[in-house]
Order: sequence, then C-alpha cells, then structure tokens
Amino acid sequence: MKRLFFLLPVLWLSLPLKAQTDQKITLAIHGGAGTILKENMTPGQEEAYRQKLQEALVQGYAILEEGGTSLEAIVAAIRIMEDSPLFNAGKGAVFTNEKRNELDAAIMDGKTGLAGAVAGVTNIKNPITAALAVMNQSRHVMMGGAGAEKFAKEAGLEMVDPSYFYTEKRFNQLQHIKKLEKSQLDHDGGQGAIKRSYPDHKFGTVGAVALDQYGNLAAGTSTGGMTNKRYGRIGDTPIIGAGTYASNDACAVSATGHGEFFIRSVVAYDVAALMKYKGLPLQDAAEEVVMKKLVKIEGSGGIIAVDKKGNIAMPFNTAGMYRGYIKEKGKAKIFIYEEE
Ligand code: ASP
Repeated sequence: MKRLFFLLPVLWLSLPLKAQTDQKITLAIHGGAGTILKENMTPGQEEAYRQKLQEALVQGYAILEEGGTSLEAIVAAIRIMEDSPLFNAGKGAVFTNEKRNELDAAIMDGKTGLAGAVAGVTNIKNPITAALAVMNQSRHVMMGGAGAEKFAKEAGLEMVDPSYFYTEKRFNQLQHIKKLEKSQLDHDGGQGAIKRSYPDHKFGTVGAVALDQYGNLAAGTSTGGMTNKRYGRIGDTPIIGAGTYASNDACAVSATGHGEFFIRSVVAYDVAALMKYKGLPLQDAAEEVVMKKLVKIEGSGGIIAVDKKGNIAMPFNTAGMYRGYIKEKGKAKIFIYEEE
C-alpha cells in the first residue's frame, strides 16, 4: 500500500497530455481576400458565406476539443470549404484560360516540419487530402498534374470527373475576364498586364491554421488558383513557404492573394522568419509582410496566422477577406469586411 502512494505522483505525471496541458486550442480559417464590398453583396450571399465559415470553424474546433491534432482540424475545416461552391477551392474552383479547373493545395505540420502539396490537379475531389497523403504516404513534398492524380487514386482518395468542379458563376467570371483582357489590348504580357486584368479580383482560396492541445501548429491551403491562368500556372498556395507554412518554432500561416507576388515575397516563411530571427510578435510580423512588403510591390491579399500561445493575426491589404476564428466552444467569430 505504501508503495502505491509513492507511485501516485508518477501516475499523475504520466496521464495523457490532454489532461495536463493548458494550451489555448485555436483554429482560424479564411475563404479568400479581395474586392469584397458590402455594397456588392446581397444579405443572402453574405449569410451563406458566414454560415459556411461557421460550419468549418465549429467542425474543426470540435476535433481539437476532442483531443484531435491541429492537422486533423485544418483538414476537416478545409474540406468543408472545398465542398462548397462559394469558395475558389474544390467545387467552385475558378477556370483556366482553357476552361479547365486546375487545383493546388498544401499542408504543413509544425511539429515535424513535414509538408505535402499537389499542384495542377483536375480530378481529386478534395485536394487538401491529397496534400496530406503526399506528406504522410510518400517520400516527396510536392506532386503535380497526372502524377499527383495517379498517386491520389492509388492512395484511395475520392476521385471525380473534372466536370464536378464546374459552376456557372466561375465560368461566367472567366468569360468576363477574357472580354476585359481583349478590350484592354495589353501587349506587354508581363506582370503589369496581369494586374490590370484583375481590376476587381476576388481571391477565393481557402485555408486554415490551428494550435492543438499538444502545443502543435499546422497550416493548410487549397485553391483553384487565378481565373484565366495559363500554361499550367501554379500559384503560391502549394509552395511551402510562400502560401503555406508551419513551424512550432514560430507560427502557422495560410495565405490568399495574387500568388505571383506571394511567391516572390516568400510570404508565409517570411512571417515565421521575422518571429524566429528578429523576435517580432505574431501580429507585427504578419503586418510587416502583408501591409508593408507586399503593399510596396502592389501584391494584394492577406494571411491568417496563429502562434504557439494561440495568438491570431489576420491582416489583409484588400477591401475584405472572408475569415474567422474560434478559441472557445460556441464562440466562433466571423468577419468579411475591413471594418467589423
Ligand atoms: N493565391 C492564389 C493563387 O495565386 C489565389 C487566391 O488566393 O485566391 O493561386
């Protein structure tokens, strides 16, 4: 009996981490940034976005609460947004110049530093699950096109006919941008031309970042890219360090915006690096990159980020960004516009 008492503190210490740690479990999500103005939205549209964001937050958070990992939570939240035609990811993805839907996605585990990504895929229902499979079931980090599709099929993921991704709204957007491009007679074909052809661009990419009760961070992002993209264009989303990044040393980041600028500015990693090497707090690091560095080169968009303490930053330099977070059961916070 005496011996048992002696063992009690040891037993207590070896209880599962869940019961002991005091991590502020946190989940933040985005559904894209851009020229999102209240005057252009009907109350019904606004409500639909808020509801879907809420659903993604609540379901992702439930996983964290039940002791699930940050990776599991972000995948669940992103899948919900991929399955909704409201966002430019999965069903509802934008069209390429050749009237196709080519999807990109990435995921990163802040604990292990492992990452997975797929680019330019056309028949994987939930590209975020393919990114996860690349991370967990292959020796690679990024797979593209037909190879990635073959891998996803072999991994047992749900495959669909490419027509599954068709939505009338996105198809009309392509026609609109093509017309605009023609009328602008842009002959330089460079970055200036790209910028001018997206006067009212709405980036509908989706992403999630989370901190679980084990103190581990994770980030994931999924997108259809940019309307009218050409020649197998790949954006920042599946590029680790540009559109997606997570490290337990610093933070987890998911971006949305004009990918070319985010790639050249290595946005997601830059935020983490400012924290790690310069000691900046999360909010300052995020603002430095989104509101200064990107603004200087006219790179529009935003990010969501979370750190080890459960702090959240969600800066964007566009009119709006679909975004939200949840830190407490039943208290999901959702925002669309700048002033809310
Ligand atoms: N960042 C994405 C891309 O450039 C677009 C978006 O955020 O909607 O592919």
